Amino acid sequence: MGKPTGFMEYPRELPVHRSVPLRLGDWKEFHTEMPEPRLRQQAARCMDCGIPFCQSACPVHNIIPEWNDLVYRDQWKAALLRLWQTNNFPEFTGRVCPAPCEGSCVLGINTPPVTIKNIEQEIINHAWAHGWVTPRPPPARTGKTVAIIGSGPAGLAAADQLNHAGHLVTVFERADRIGGLLMYGIPNMKLDKQVVQRRVELMRQEGVKFVVNTHVGKQVNGHELLREFDAMILACGATRPRDLPVPGRQLKGIHFALEFLHANTKSLLDSNHRDGAYISAQDRDVIVIGGGDTGTDCIGTALRHGCRNLVNFELLTQPPATRAQDNPWPQWPRIYRVDYGHEEAQTRFGADPRQYCLLTKEFLGDASGAVRAVRTIQVQWANTNGKITPHEVPGTEKEWTANLVLLAMGFLGPEDTLAAQLGLQTDPRSNFKAEFGRFATSVEGVFAAGDCRRGQSLVVWAISEGRGAARECDRYLMGSTTLP
Ligand SMILES: Cc1cc2nc3c(=O)[nH]c(=O)nc-3n(C[C@H](O)[C@H](O)[C@H](O)COP(=O)(O)OP(=O)(O)OC[C@H]3O[C@@H](n4cnc5c(N)ncnc54)[C@H](O)[C@@H]3O)c2cc1C
Ligand code: SF4
Repeated sequence: MGKPTGFMEYPRELPVHRSVPLRLGDWKEFHTEMPEPRLRQQAARCMDCGIPFCQSACPVHNIIPEWNDLVYRDQWKAALLRLWQTNNFPEFTGRVCPAPCEGSCVLGINTPPVTIKNIEQEIINHAWAHGWVTPRPPPARTGKTVAIIGSGPAGLAAADQLNHAGHLVTVFERADRIGGLLMYGIPNMKLDKQVVQRRVELMRQEGVKFVVNTHVGKQVNGHELLREFDAMILACGATRPRDLPVPGRQLKGIHFALEFLHANTKSLLDSNHRDGAYISAQDRDVIVIGGGDTGTDCIGTALRHGCRNLVNFELLTQPPATRAQDNPWPQWPRIYRVDYGHEEAQTRFGADPRQYCLLTKEFLGDASGAVRAVRTIQVQWANTNGKITPHEVPGTEKEWTANLVLLAMGFLGPEDTLAAQLGLQTDPRSNFKAEFGRFATSVEGVFAAGDCRRGQSLVVWAISEGRGAARECDRYLMGSTTLP
């Protein structure tokens, strides 16, 4: 424990984000760094509790109290080595993780929790800045080969682990760039794509082979790959978006969130938007249907395009400002939060863009077949036979002007092409069936990890699953494993 009285002396403090007017004018990250002395004070707030609930709540089980202590003591390299024991990519989680650890921090029982996520990010920033992150190719190769399908955080974590174990790893990705949703889902202002590319380049120098523009199951046969490689890990993500099949859905100007986000980042990286190959929200009345990270990213992106107006529909009720009685510590706090996109919309239009308890009934079109409005009705959530369900409130119908509608209502699971080709069993939610902890699918030598196995989730869970699948794959290939 760095400083026994730290938690009493220093209030919680986070770095101030770049100002909204400034950041709305570009696509650069909104995060900033905190001066080192102040960051070390934040690390001193950690109480090194007997039972570190934070560590249990973190899906990769980062050894948080240890690196807090080391940061406080100015031992950055030792802190980095602790962090690397559990997390391959702290530069991703330090930027995008919702930090379930902080929801379980003991300090959080009666005061604001330790700024764990920010300390994590600063440890890895410090490491890159000091040139400590250098290629570490394995000392020897096993001669075994592994194909990984999908290059999101699950595929990358599995590749990193297996490569360090000495196997020859090839990652197949159907997109033109590596990174999965780190590249083409989460926008640049939240996770700079150079941060992703820098990591991919490092892995390439360590011996991982990346093959892009290759759709396994379509351009390349899954069986052929299975014959060619000793094992395979599926890390294909949950890529089937939930649709909204109400009247008018076919109208022009209604898109899935990822069509909007993917094209935007690709055009930004390809040509700084000069090619015009993206769906522009400029001067348009935008409605984002659905919240969560995807909804927020659509808001932030539409605002940077210069939309005329923006509303975000939420079907659920507004969460409470503080924990409800049925949501005690150390559970993840289900409370009202203001994310970067909400803050930006508030600054730009003077109000939080979220409208709660709204059910979309119909999209209305103009003579050219383009959407011109969305018709909604207010709902009330009530207990029906032990289940909380929405009930329409008569007389609350409303029309909202819209000429760009973005559907951000979550994802239903992986696509079925590869599962059908390989004859994989799926679970009742259509995910690839593989028991958590073993990660083995119904086909021998084939493992599954990340969103394609557990359903739509988080980057940190994808990293955790990629590590787990790598461990089990190594055990399958070698008969035993030393991977964590
Ligand atoms: C817009 C958006 C924002 C998000 N923001 C956050 C956030 O801020 N914080 C957070 O923790 N989580 C966030 N998430 C969730 C997080 O990104 C995912 O949980 C995580 O990326 C899942 O990782 P994965 O490796 O399982 O799959 P993915 O990242 O989805 O990667 C799967 C990859 O597999 C490729 N692929 C699929 N099938 C094939 C095939 N047959 N052949 C070749 N390649 C294939 C896909 O092209 C894709 O690149 C967000 C999700 C979205 C959609
Ligand atoms: S990965 Fe996420 S949950 Fe784990 S320590 Fe970092 S911020 Fe917390």
